[in-house]
Amino acid sequence: MRFSRMLIPTTKETPNDAVLTSHILLLRAGFIQSIGSGLYNFLPLGKITLDKVRQIVKEELDKAGCNEVHLPIVTPITLWEETGRADKFGKELLRFKDRHENNFVLSPTNEEAMVNLVRQTVKSYKQLPLNVYQINWKFRDEVRPRFGLMRGREFLMKDAYSFHATTEDMEREFALMEETYKKIFTRLGLAFRVVEADSGAIGGAGSKEFMVLADSGEDTIMVCDACDFGANVEVLSEDEKVCPKCGGGLSQTKGIEAGHIFQLGTVYSEPMKAEFLDEDQKLKPFVMGTYGIGVSRLLAGIIEQNHDENGCVWTKESAPFLVDIIVAKAKNEEQMAAAEKLYAELQSKGVDVLLDDRADKKTGFGVKIKDFELIGIPYAVVIGNDVSEGKVEFITRDGLQKESLSTENLVEQILEKLA
Ligand code: ATP
Ligand code: MG
Repeated sequence: MRFSRMLIPTTKETPNDAVLTSHILLLRAGFIQSIGSGLYNFLPLGKITLDKVRQIVKEELDKAGCNEVHLPIVTPITLWEETGRADKFGKELLRFKDRHENNFVLSPTNEEAMVNLVRQTVKSYKQLPLNVYQINWKFRDEVRPRFGLMRGREFLMKDAYSFHATTEDMEREFALMEETYKKIFTRLGLAFRVVEADSGAIGGAGSKEFMVLADSGEDTIMVCDACDFGANVEVLSEDEKVCPKCGGGLSQTKGIEAGHIFQLGTVYSEPMKAEFLDEDQKLKPFVMGTYGIGVSRLLAGIIEQNHDENGCVWTKESAPFLVDIIVAKAKNEEQMAAAEKLYAELQSKGVDVLLDDRADKKTGFGVKIKDFELIGIPYAVVIGNDVSEGKVEFITRDGLQKESLSTENLVEQILEKLA
């Protein structure tokens, strides 16, 4: 893509109501735009990044045998009445009527709707186990929407639901989802901990949260210094000093809840009469698990963990582009020709590359560098005056190290650095 043709409204000003770094930077770098409390437009950079994260989530779930489906965002409230959650959910559940006076909700999560899907289609133990998911917008009328994508009212969530004949099989899937989530968070380049969580109001046997480690996180977690044990303070008190798993020392830290996996049992399938015929010809309720990831929240989490005073520092797999080719003087024919050549060559190698070809008076070299730093593209290649001597500059965004590269075998040298 060419910078000159893209809508990237970067700005120096810190927006009024933004206090959290990721919120400020995502607005300033032109990824998102606010249109009301907890509601955001995703601008081109934001949309590309969201799609990349979404794709990683999808790829790993598909590899684990999950089925992607797509449910309406509008759900008839009658489904919510079957489980009693229409009353329990309170004001976070946005309700409305259609022209025929039928009642609906904007889905904040989809347990009922997904149980409804499965009870209509799965009748026998032979069709089990089954894991169905969607990556779709959710709406929660949060009391205090804040911190940008961290706590929006409309947000993108991956929600998966698994259906089993036995508790043992559900536990097997729960462990598989834990491993799958670890792959997703690792691919995204995040430092994270899996912690024991409170199973809370929904009930069920076990639940674990995936915490992206960041000082700004809203959750306090206790982590072991010696093993991988961790727990939310909701389940393990702050006074606890010894790890219950290995006896190592516990310390306190902050995390952003980016994912949550949950052993549900039959709390939804029983009231909704979602049953299958088992081997012994008896009707039984499905044993269920549920698994969420806050996909749009992840964008905020990645930036909370990866930024500096100049802007965002996207990880390689999440970045909207991997390389930014900066043409110092876009009106200079030699520079522009060298940049175009490199742009075409990197594209032919499958590299996501942005060409900063802006040639207007206001957009000098300094502005392009500042935008590169603010947007947080992992690498830049600067094509300036030195190109006539066969040299360009290569910048690594993380740490801003600079080095000079020869234009001979340039593509090979760059590919080596990206690997
Ligand atoms: P929280 O405790 O942060 O309010 P939750 O426990 O209500 O979250 P779940 O119902 O478990 O959230 O939803 C699954 C995932 O969706 C969460 O792990 C989180 O990453 C994401 N999420 C939940 N609420 C929001 C929100 N308001 N904005 C963005 N992401 C959200
Ligand atoms: Mg949760």
